[in-house]
Amino acid sequence: MKVLIVEDEPKIAGAISRGLKYENFITEVYQDGNSGLSAALGDEYDIIILDRMLPGVEGLEITSQIRQAGIRTPILILTAKSQIRDRVAGLNAGADDYLIKPFSFEELLARIRALLRRPADTTDNILKIGDLTLDTTNFDVRRGKKRIKLTKTEYGLLEYLMRNTSRIISKDKLIGHVWDFDADILPNTVEAYIGSLRRKIDKPFKGTSLLHTYRGFGYKIGIKK
Ligand code: CA
Repeated sequence: MKVLIVEDEPKIAGAISRGLKYENFITEVYQDGNSGLSAALGDEYDIIILDRMLPGVEGLEITSQIRQAGIRTPILILTAKSQIRDRVAGLNAGADDYLIKPFSFEELLARIRALLRRPADTTDNILKIGDLTLDTTNFDVRRGKKRIKLTKTEYGLLEYLMRNTSRIISKDKLIGHVWDFDADILPNTVEAYIGSLRRKIDKPFKGTSLLHTYRGFGYKIGIKK
């Protein structure tokens, strides 16, 4: 899952980015409003974290421009305590949640996980397809009771597919959401990773295959009817 962070204080931006990478997210950081806005409008993210006060375009303005462009990615606003009365303005501008500085990383992570659960009606942090489960809090993947060990990239692929079960996901989309933007990934690489994921989550198990290839279109995880 890919997170856009727009925050002009390098220490805070760096701490959020490092923390999220440790939690298996991939991150992109911009330190001014203009580059953050063009990234938000030009690329796809799974979550956008915006500081309220930024050089250039400020956070609320970025939020309303993102919404005006029809982008519905969850937005979390970081705001100083002195600006707390503006929080209604923030939510009105189209943000989904806000967090008051200073905040703990654990709090931020909890908010992000809550936002990622929307609009799905899951009530906890465990994604489930048939007997395949993925616990996003401890990266535990199981089929039935059997624990499955995945690499970081395989885990990223599986999480993205399990959060997007309603549609076929193209290789380009997977590249954009699972790999760092500066990674040089070819469609063949995606095929190779899908292959190794399938060898771990489907091949060893007798039950239904869950990971499906739609030739020329992409991949989808689910129970085929
Ligand atoms: Ca700031």
